[in-house]
Amino acid sequence: MISRVLVSSCLLGQRVRYDGGAATAVSEVLDRWIEERRVVSFCPEIAGGFPVPRPPAEIVGDGGGAVLRSEATVVDESGKDVTNYFTQGAQSALDTALANNIQVAVLKDRSPSCGSMLIHTGDFSGAVRGGVGVTTALLEQNGIKVFSEEQFGLADEYLARLDLASDGPA
Ligand code: SF4
Repeated sequence: MISRVLVSSCLLGQRVRYDGGAATAVSEVLDRWIEERRVVSFCPEIAGGFPVPRPPAEIVGDGGGAVLRSEATVVDESGKDVTNYFTQGAQSALDTALANNIQVAVLKDRSPSCGSMLIHTGDFSGAVRGGVGVTTALLEQNGIKVFSEEQFGLADEYLARLDLASDGPA
């Protein structure tokens, strides 16, 4: 049985980023996944209610997990607290993953929603640090493996193991 995968909409060429642009990924693995109809496109910030374009936002505090525990916030560059948009988007991403029996996601790194290795430091300086975004944190808390756009190969290997496991013993 073929496992499906949640992919950040901006990596698929959709112009949903805060600045109205995309972050189109160039990947033979992704091209094959699309042919195999594995891909479910999702943008947590659009699902959370943000328009395009929107002000850039960063996590102030200890990353996406802390946001979910109400120990950190997400603010836009004017200082407005936009945490609720991010938590709603994360919940919507999880609902979509569960509805599609998805156990793997490839999300755009460095995003306060989708980051899985790096996020911005919260001071709008352009600097990054280790950490995960709000959607990534919620997906991982629910057993969904999240990879970045630098890890399509690893994600493909993981998916292949899931496909084998779901086929059961011969
Ligand atoms: Fe891309 Fe995720 Fe940002 Fe949406 S929230 S634009 S999918 S990085």
